[in-house]
Amino acid sequence: MVECVVVIGAGMAGLCTALSLAPTGRELHLLERDEAPPEGDADAAFEHWNRRGVGQLRHSHAFLARLRTIIKYHHPALLERLREAGCREINFVDMLPDALKVDYQPAPGDADMAVLTSRRTTLELVMRRYVEGLANVTIHSGAFVREAIIETLDGGQLRVAGVRGEQAGESREWRGDLTVDAAGRTSDIHEQIKAAGGAVTEEAEDCGILYYTRHYRFLPGVGEPARGRTSGTGDLTFVKYGLFPGDNGCFSITLAVPDIEMGLRAAVVDPKAFDTICRLLPGLALWTDPATAEPISKVFGMGDLKSRWRSFVSADQRATVGFFAVGDSLVRTNPLYGRGCSFAAIEADILRQVLETTTDPAARARVYDSRVKAELTPYYTNMRAQDRAAARRARNALDPAFKAPLRSQILTSFLNDGVRIAVRSDLDLLRSALRDFHMMDPPGAWIRKPGNLARIMRWWSRGKARNADLYPPPLGPDRAEMMQRLGLDPAAIAA
Ligand SMILES: Cc1cc2nc3c(=O)[nH]c(=O)nc-3n(C[C@H](O)[C@H](O)[C@H](O)COP(=O)(O)OP(=O)(O)OC[C@H]3O[C@@H](n4cnc5c(N)ncnc54)[C@H](O)[C@@H]3O)c2cc1C
Repeated sequence: MVECVVVIGAGMAGLCTALSLAPTGRELHLLERDEAPPEGDADAAFEHWNRRGVGQLRHSHAFLARLRTIIKYHHPALLERLREAGCREINFVDMLPDALKVDYQPAPGDADMAVLTSRRTTLELVMRRYVEGLANVTIHSGAFVREAIIETLDGGQLRVAGVRGEQAGESREWRGDLTVDAAGRTSDIHEQIKAAGGAVTEEAEDCGILYYTRHYRFLPGVGEPARGRTSGTGDLTFVKYGLFPGDNGCFSITLAVPDIEMGLRAAVVDPKAFDTICRLLPGLALWTDPATAEPISKVFGMGDLKSRWRSFVSADQRATVGFFAVGDSLVRTNPLYGRGCSFAAIEADILRQVLETTTDPAARARVYDSRVKAELTPYYTNMRAQDRAAARRARNALDPAFKAPLRSQILTSFLNDGVRIAVRSDLDLLRSALRDFHMMDPPGAWIRKPGNLARIMRWWSRGKARNADLYPPPLGPDRAEMMQRLGLDPAAIAA
């Protein structure tokens, strides 16, 4: 018998679930509260696609190499369509500093070390149209899910048998053998399962930042500025920034501001202040110069960013069967790392493997939970540790009397004068660090390898003077100057 799968949401996780499960022959129904994308191209989607269900729709998005690789090997035709739509592929060699490009020899695996960047509306539009063309998949637009249909089986076990909601003003029920919650960060299905007595645990903590994104388009006949030694990404503690080349002559810039920087947070939503900040950052200044590009959007802001992990399996309660959460409804991560969509795709892939391995509903729930944890916990824990450290640094930066303890000074020097210099100078180390960032290798494994650590120590022990040429140029002004240029009082704005 062909299993029928009801998927709540046709965002990234819903689409990834369809990409993963459609080839298995299962019948998939994706229920999406928002309307279908407008007719037309990427620009029409960017301007007119109304997606109240996705708050981050107009924030910069990149697909890390791990996700691009899943698409490349499982759905090569989709990768081709993304390219045709103008999505940008930044290859391994493009990520190298000029000095390392000179003698670069490709190594096995480098071809898969590529990022896809674009306006999210374009990525999602192309993925959605591709998924709509897959056999066994139907996307129901304007289908709002209100609740899960939760049954109690003999013996007291809970089973999700589908969902209830409405479409076109009429109450509807969609029943299936399996229900996938891909409704994103605002999903409340976990609360319904908990209220019915099912196992649900959750841990969550603030990421400590807010996100601000503005989109631009190059003027006719103008191409991308040469990057030189400046970087399109950087961390000045009081602001982190990222440049995202996009499709069809567009690009976006994201500024991430620590939550304690109240004045900067309030100022940055003003397009003038946003552009002033960009002008003061050498890695962005040429891009936003009015002779190069023009803004095509307001500044989009987004807060309430959390790292959050839910589990629907516990040692002392029986798992709810027939139910799986994929994407942000299961695990949310800090957008700074650009891993949310990769997480969703990996979870969808694990779900396919689990469904193919066993038909026992309870085993499916347990094995899915344990495989997702085994695969993703190391990345999650690592990101959370980095977030905590970044929040500490942002707090300390506001305290003029703060002096870091010796241990932390040594660690900072090891990172800034050792690791960062080593990866800028040694192709193998940079490759390993990037493979880690792109989730191609387990987090932190490369730096613990004795050979790599010895190489980093050699660069570190040369000292700042001998390494002077290897430091990147300053990323931008210090906090006091930035505040002054924005007309903000540095002393008055800290929360
Ligand atoms: C500011 C920001 C920037 C990010 N940048 C990146 C990045 O560069 N790279 C990356 O990999 N990740 C990034 N992420 C994370 C990424 O956006 C999410 O991890 C990803 O979208 C999760 O997919 P999802 O399907 O779970 O949720 P969403 O993509 O939000 O989709 C949820 C879907 O469910 C629908 N829905 C919700 N409720 C209902 C309902 N009741 N009935 C029917 N449908 C419903 C919504 O309309 C929506 O379509 C970013 C996140 C943020 C906040």
